[in-house]
Amino acid sequence: MNKLLITSAAALLLAACGTDDNDTVISDESVKSWNTALKTMPLTKIFIESHHKEVRQGVTYIDDVLIVNKKIALPADYNPGENKTARREIERLMTAGNREGLQFVIRSGYRTYEHQAQLYSEYVARDGQVAADKYSAQPGHSEHQTGLTFDIGSVASANDFRISFGNTPEGAWLQDHAHEYGFIIRYPEGKEHITGYQYEPWHVRYVGQSLAEELYDSHETLEEYLGLYKQ
Ligand SMILES: [Zn+2]
Repeated sequence: MNKLLITSAAALLLAACGTDDNDTVISDESVKSWNTALKTMPLTKIFIESHHKEVRQGVTYIDDVLIVNKKIALPADYNPGENKTARREIERLMTAGNREGLQFVIRSGYRTYEHQAQLYSEYVARDGQVAADKYSAQPGHSEHQTGLTFDIGSVASANDFRISFGNTPEGAWLQDHAHEYGFIIRYPEGKEHITGYQYEPWHVRYVGQSLAEELYDSHETLEEYLGLYKQ
């Protein structure tokens, strides 16, 4: 997001440095009015307007990144199956880790809307809705429906689907290397108020290598990166 703001500032600077012999130079007056507008505009507005939101067949993309979260849902009939690239990369990731002596296994992957609806109603029946909403998505709001998401565990399994998975050799390796294969830890520790989910060190979402590396370096969630979270 900071980068977008810098880009806007750079554009203004460039405009201000235009030479008189250039016919297309932007007038001093318009530069002044842009500057005034930018100064008076709240930062959050600048960020939000820097992003491009598109809804294609009910699926929301911001800056071409598919987004599903507590607020943004997928249509019930969106059933793309498992994404082939995401599967290939998760296999590569696990093979690399297992070569170093780890024992990765996939515990969960693509899930249909109907399957999520069934799971969610079971969790609500067992723990009540408030508790269920901390660890489970309502139907249409599960990232597993995108086919881009996996829950990773270890053969030992004692810490699978637990916060303590983050402290196992597998969990620590995933934290350090997932981005190299295009994955992010989607619900990181300390960002619960932004994602709406508890820390899930096992839940990875494929976003492609360049975005994954950017998010790894900036410690941003998708919500922050895509301008969906306002402080
Ligand atoms: Zn998951």
